[in-house]
Amino acid sequence: MPIARLFRPGRTVLSFEVFPPKRDGDVESLYRAFDELAPLRPDYISVTYGAGGTNVGLHYEINARLVRLGITPLAHFTCVGQGRDAIRGQLDRLWEAGVRNILALRGDPPKGSERFERHPEGFAHANELVAFIREHYGFCIGAACYPEKHPEAGTAESDLAHLKNKVQAGADFLVSQMFFDNEAYFRFVAACRAAGIAAPIQPGVMPVLTPKFFARDWGVAVPAALRTALEGTADHDEAAARGLEFASAQCRDLLGRGAPGLHLYIMNKVRPAREILQGLGKAKS
Ligand SMILES: Cc1cc2nc3c(=O)[nH]c(=O)nc-3n(C[C@H](O)[C@H](O)[C@H](O)COP(=O)(O)OP(=O)(O)OC[C@H]3O[C@@H](n4cnc5c(N)ncnc54)[C@H](O)[C@@H]3O)c2cc1C
Repeated sequence: MPIARLFRPGRTVLSFEVFPPKRDGDVESLYRAFDELAPLRPDYISVTYGAGGTNVGLHYEINARLVRLGITPLAHFTCVGQGRDAIRGQLDRLWEAGVRNILALRGDPPKGSERFERHPEGFAHANELVAFIREHYGFCIGAACYPEKHPEAGTAESDLAHLKNKVQAGADFLVSQMFFDNEAYFRFVAACRAAGIAAPIQPGVMPVLTPKFFARDWGVAVPAALRTALEGTADHDEAAARGLEFASAQCRDLLGRGAPGLHLYIMNKVRPAREILQGLGKAKS
């Protein structure tokens, strides 16, 4: 099912994001997690693509597994370090496995590099990958967006102009970077609409379960209340409960104010998905 078609008035599009585990054995626990996530009836599960194109085999396996389980996968895909032929080879395989939805991304610069380097036979920006996929395949295409601006973008206006290009190149729907202040999301949606970007914009919500999260600069504003809540306890379970409470309240507010769905960055864990949905009264198991 093309994911873009799920965005209809009055319908909440629900998705979970997972990543291919680094250690081989851990993929079995991800597959067990799928068994527990399935009864929550996500509209799709998205599978990240390893930074720099690492773990391509496992990315494929996980997407194919989701197809076999009857759960719609959204396969993330980046242009990092590969030319058109390599890209085609992987997209062909994903298509043959039954994957019908791709999240088309540029990707981050590989570790140790400051700047993204275009492969000589590849693409400099996601809009070029989107156009390539649109030209050669029948995939439904998602793309990334950044309510608080992409970290490399000079201004919010230039970022928005590039986003518009990306949608015009063929992106059918947008999934947002995490944010913790819902005002940032609603302001961004209004700016997109004013700029003529009509694609659905699914908000990305990151349930923060540990204060370690704050050690890295994610390029998004972190409210003092969230940080204080998690740093104010030495108990891991209590910290996770406080983070989930924050994320649940954020999700309630988003849906209450008309957001078209929720994309939960669950980091391969079942608990955030289950507890947030229970809090919303949407768990269907
Ligand atoms: C929902 C989501 C999922 C993600 N999943 C993954 C993943 O699975 N694997 C992974 O490695 N990374 C992932 N990322 C991170 C993403 O790859 C990085 O944020 C990357 O730096 C930008 O990717 P993009 O597709 O947004 O790039 P682009 O749309 O190309 O934008 C990148 C920057 O270039 C600018 N720009 C865009 N087009 C042009 C143009 N034509 N000319 C000049 N400037 C331009 C933009 O303003 C922006 O600053 C994800 C991000 C999000 C929000």
